[in-house]
Amino acid sequence: AFALTAAGCGGGRAGVEGAGDTPAAGANKGALIGVAMPTKTSERWIDDGNNVKAKLESLGYKVDLQYANDSVPQQQQQIESMLNNGAKALIVASIDGTALTQQLADASGDNVKVIAYDRLINGSPNVDYYVTFDNEKVGVQQGTSLLTGLGVLDADGKDTGKTGPFNVELFAGSPDDNNAQFFFKGAMSVLQPYIDKGTLKVVSGQTEFSQVAIQQWKLETAQARMENLLNKSYAKGTKLDGVLSPYDGLSRGILNATKAAGIPNPIVTGQDAEKPSDKLILDGVQYSTVFKDTRKLGDTAATMVDDVLNGKTPETNDTTTYNNKVKVVPAYLHQPVVVTKDNLIKEVVDSGYYTKEGVEKGE
Ligand code: BGC
Repeated sequence: AFALTAAGCGGGRAGVEGAGDTPAAGANKGALIGVAMPTKTSERWIDDGNNVKAKLESLGYKVDLQYANDSVPQQQQQIESMLNNGAKALIVASIDGTALTQQLADASGDNVKVIAYDRLINGSPNVDYYVTFDNEKVGVQQGTSLLTGLGVLDADGKDTGKTGPFNVELFAGSPDDNNAQFFFKGAMSVLQPYIDKGTLKVVSGQTEFSQVAIQQWKLETAQARMENLLNKSYAKGTKLDGVLSPYDGLSRGILNATKAAGIPNPIVTGQDAEKPSDKLILDGVQYSTVFKDTRKLGDTAATMVDDVLNGKTPETNDTTTYNNKVKVVPAYLHQPVVVTKDNLIKEVVDSGYYTKEGVEKGE
C-alpha cells in the first residue's frame, strides 16, 4: 500500500496540499513517534535511543524505539512497521544513508515528518530536518589532537617547530555513513600540510579514504588492518608514532593490535568517549577522543518532532552544509569537544554524562 501511495505522490511533498501539512497545536498530542537506531554494539547509540525516548515521553508522546543490529534490511523493515503502526514522525539514525529512499517516500505519502538523527539520509527529498554535531569540526579536532599528541602542535594549537618525521597511519569510518567522509575530510585538512612537508610520514602510503575506510565501523576490521600494516610496513623496527582513528571502537582495535605486537602505544585519537576508551585514556593508553553529548542531540531531535507536529518551524543553525544530493537539509549542529586525560573527568563526569566509577572501570 505504501509503495502505491509513494508512487502516486510522484515528485515531492511541496505540491501535496492538505490540512495535515500544518497541524494545529495539540492535534498530535500523545502521537506515536518511531525512533530507528542503527546498532547496540556501540554504547553511544544505546544512550542516544534512551535519551530520545525519555525526552519524547516527557513531551507526552508514545515511542517505538528499534535497533537494527547494523542490518540495512532490518532497519528498512523496522521503519515500515513504525509507519504501519501509525507513527506521526520518525527519528532515524541510518545504517546506510542511501538505503531508505522507499521508506521515506512512504512516510512522506502519509505526511509523516522525518528527522535525520546524527547521520544524514542521502538521496531522498523526504528528509525534513537533520540534527547532528558539526561533523567536519569533529574531523578537524581529531587531526589537531593527533598533532598535539605527537608534539607538533602545542596546547593552544600553535606549531612547536618539531619536524619529526613522525610515522603515522590513517583510519576512516564506514563508507555508507555520510559522516565518515566529513570526519576524514576535516582531519585531512589539518594533517595534509604536515604530510606534504614531511613532518608526518604515512609509512604504508595509504592516504585515500577508500584505502583506509573501515566497513560498518567494526573494531575487528580495524584491528586486522592495523595488524596487517604492522606486519607489512613496520616489521623492520620502524616506529609507529601515531594513528588517526575516527571512532573509539576502531581505536581499541588499533590498540589491541599494537599491544599484541608488543610495541609502545602510539598516539591514537577517537570519538564518542565510550567508557572502555575513557578508561584507556585515563590509563594513558588511548590519547584522545571527541566527546559528543548525545543528551543534547536527543533533546533537539525530540523538540524538532514536537515543533513539526505542532505546526512550528524547528530551530536550525546550518542551512548550507548538508546537501543530501536531492536537497540541502536544514540542520541543527551541536558542538563536539576534544577530551584527553586532562579534561575527561571535567567534561564527561562532572557534566553528569557518565559516572566516575563508569569511566574508571570502563564499563
Ligand atoms: C557517528 C559517530 C560514531 C560512528 C560509529 C557516526 O555516524 O557520528 O559518533 O562514532 O558513527 O558509530
